[in-house]
Amino acid sequence: MTGIVSIQKERTALLVVDVQYDFLPGGALEVKQGDAILDGVAKWMTSDDFRLVVGTQDWHPEKHISFASEHANTQPFDSVDIHGHEETAWPDHCVQQTRGAELVDELPWHRAAAILRKGMDPQADSYSAFRNNWDATGKRPSTGLAGYLRERDIDTVVLCGLARDVCVFWSAQDAIEAGFRTICIWDLTRAVVPDKDDENREALRTMGVVVCESSDVENQPA
Ligand SMILES: [Zn+2]
Repeated sequence: MTGIVSIQKERTALLVVDVQYDFLPGGALEVKQGDAILDGVAKWMTSDDFRLVVGTQDWHPEKHISFASEHANTQPFDSVDIHGHEETAWPDHCVQQTRGAELVDELPWHRAAAILRKGMDPQADSYSAFRNNWDATGKRPSTGLAGYLRERDIDTVVLCGLARDVCVFWSAQDAIEAGFRTICIWDLTRAVVPDKDDENREALRTMGVVVCESSDVENQPA
C-alpha cells in the first residue's frame, strides 16, 4: 500500500517503455503477460493527465552485441562479459525493420510527442531510456532524453511498459540519477524474470523511486 500519489500534470511526462511485439507473449523475447498491460497503458496515453507522452523503442541492428548468437558457446539468458560488465545475452530481438521491433498497434502512439529509439550502437546495449549500457570506452553515453524532458519543463517521470526488471528498471534508476521525481506504475509493467519482483521493487524504492499501482495515482484515468 503506497497511499495516494499526486502528480502535477504540467510537469509530468509518461514514459512508455518498449511495448513492442518481440516483448509480448509469442515474441522473440517474450515477457509473460506483457499483453496484460495494454488496455491500462492505452488509457493513460489517451488521458489528459500528462503534459507529455514519450515512447521508447528497442531498435537493434542485426548481429547486435547483446544477442547470444553473437557469442561463442552462449545460450540466451546466459551472462556474458560485455566491455568488462556482466550483462545478459538475449535471444535475437527487436531487429530494425522487423515486425517484432514494431511498436504494438493497439497503443495510441499518435499521442506520443517523441519516440526514442535505443540500442542502435552495434557494440553496446541500452536498457535505459536515458543512457546506453557501458561501451568500449567504459562510458554510458546519454540518449539526450533527460535534456529533452528538462527543456519541456518536466520534473516528474511516470514509467510503464516492458520489461519491469530490465528496461523499466534501468530507466527508473537513471531518471532518479538525473534528478527527476520518478514513479513506476507496477501494474502497468511485467517482468522477464518475475521471481525477482520483490527484490526489484525493494531496490527501486531504496533508490527513491515511488513504486505504486495505477489506482494509487490521484486523477488516474477512468
Ligand atoms: Zn534489446
